[in-house]
Amino acid sequence: MKKIVIASGNPGKQSEFQFLLQPFGIEVLTQSQLGIGEAEEPHSTFIENALAKAHHVNRLSGLPALADDSGICVTALGGAPGVLSARYAGDNPRSDERNNERLLQVMSGVTDRRAHYYCVLVLLHHAGDPQPLIAEGEWHGEIALQPAGNGGFGYDPLFWLPQLGKTSAQLEREQKHEISHRGMALKVLLEKMKMMQE
Ligand code: IMP
Repeated sequence: MKKIVIASGNPGKQSEFQFLLQPFGIEVLTQSQLGIGEAEEPHSTFIENALAKAHHVNRLSGLPALADDSGICVTALGGAPGVLSARYAGDNPRSDERNNERLLQVMSGVTDRRAHYYCVLVLLHHAGDPQPLIAEGEWHGEIALQPAGNGGFGYDPLFWLPQLGKTSAQLEREQKHEISHRGMALKVLLEKMKMMQE
């Protein structure tokens, strides 16, 4: 397989996937480059949303589609914001800054700060593919008391890594990819792709 379309309009994720997949000789296109709009994400589970995104982009591009659905799950909030992570503070417009503000507000006074990022990847080879490749990754940390760092995107300024003594927004890009939920899921996916000799 030489070309894959990334089924995401999120510029942060697009550049992460380009960075991670290019060494494998895969030409990475993005759905925005092909003029494809965002898919609906109506489901309550990450995997269902990822499959919906992959089918949407494959249908409109005719190319293999790699979709991810990811988010941050806070233990004390029963896994919220979860699938709603991107639009936790509303949809009009979506804003990482407002999402972070809302999360800090909701977590004010909460002592159990445990949280994890989750990512599921789906590689749909063609429209009738009965066996898309599926890979998952998790990254465990805590919700910080205040934002720190300028790297990454989304909730990274609030995602505190106690073992490293910094937030994920304070990591170098390479360091984040080594240990992140998306980096982990992609490693699993690349292994599966190698096994299928794609
Ligand atoms: P999706 O595009 O529907 O998968 O939304 C994922 C949302 O989860 C993003 O918009 C971020 O708010 C959050 N998220 C997922 N992965 C990361 C990450 O690596 N860093 C920070 N936020 C993330």
